[in-house]
Amino acid sequence: MLRTILLGPPGAGKGTQAVKIVEKYHIPHISTGDIFRENIKNGTDLGNRAKAYMDRGELVPDELVVEIATDRLTKADCKNGFLLDGFPRTIFQAEKLDEFLEGRGEKLDKVINIDVEKSALVKRITGRRVCKQCGAGYHIENIPPKKEGVCDNCGGELIQREDDTEETVLNRIDVYNKQTRPLAEYYEKSGIIANIDGNKDLEDVLADIVKALGD
Ligand code: AMP
Repeated sequence: MLRTILLGPPGAGKGTQAVKIVEKYHIPHISTGDIFRENIKNGTDLGNRAKAYMDRGELVPDELVVEIATDRLTKADCKNGFLLDGFPRTIFQAEKLDEFLEGRGEKLDKVINIDVEKSALVKRITGRRVCKQCGAGYHIENIPPKKEGVCDNCGGELIQREDDTEETVLNRIDVYNKQTRPLAEYYEKSGIIANIDGNKDLEDVLADIVKALGD
């Protein structure tokens, strides 16, 4: 059983680490950003409502996010735990998540807070590429695919996320510092936070996370 959250600015490596963590602990990876992107791709009402905020690097309104996140958490695959990536992002969302879990007699086990120096974040994000087909993540310098522009896993085309441009990234980092960073203190109070140095190599960061989560 492991109910956990990945906290950290855009570019901290949450998505990359999430893939490894869910593999090890056999829990579902729940990314609210992925849910929104999937909805935008499919042209749903939810996607249409979220898109303008995402394009500007702003947060989608709390009510909308809380609803899709808690709805996802009621699915059967979450009964042995979950890894939330990109949710909660505001104190309001964190409180709603606590209320939701409390109502089910559950609580969070751990919050993994990955921090990275701001100067490294922009470089990490603007170099980021993602497979259009399977969603696998790459970085043109740090995690390059074997063949440029082509996914190692499925041969799909690698693209840049629309909100991974330099201008939007700077806004997203700003939004993170103002609205999401206070969550570290929120979870510090409940004593379940593990602060992880995300400036290290991917493998070392993963090892630190596993140490914090336990076997
Ligand atoms: P991500 O993939 O986590 O970087 O999220 C991409 C974008 O989706 C964010 O910049 C927000 O616009 C939106 N988003 C994802 N999760 C949340 C959330 N918990 N609260 C508000 N907006 C979110």
